[in-house]
Amino acid sequence: MSRLPLSMERSIKSDIEKTKCPIHGEHPKVTFTSSGITVSCCCEKFRKNTIDKCQQAIGKALQEQITKSFKGLK
Ligand SMILES: [Zn+2]
Repeated sequence: MSRLPLSMERSIKSDIEKTKCPIHGEHPKVTFTSSGITVSCCCEKFRKNTIDKCQQAIGKALQEQITKSFKGLK
């Protein structure tokens, strides 16, 4: 997985960490690593949802990065 710019990682992290487990009311903890992301949550179900959300957010951010870099080509 390619790394996103730090500012994007930060904004994804803070977006995701704002969410709350519907059952336990706990916030997830998201950490970007060189091999991807790690997510720690209060329960497995919420962890799975959170990982899905992260993947979507990262996919979207990567797409934006690609579009931007293509626009830079002349
Ligand atoms: Zn939970």
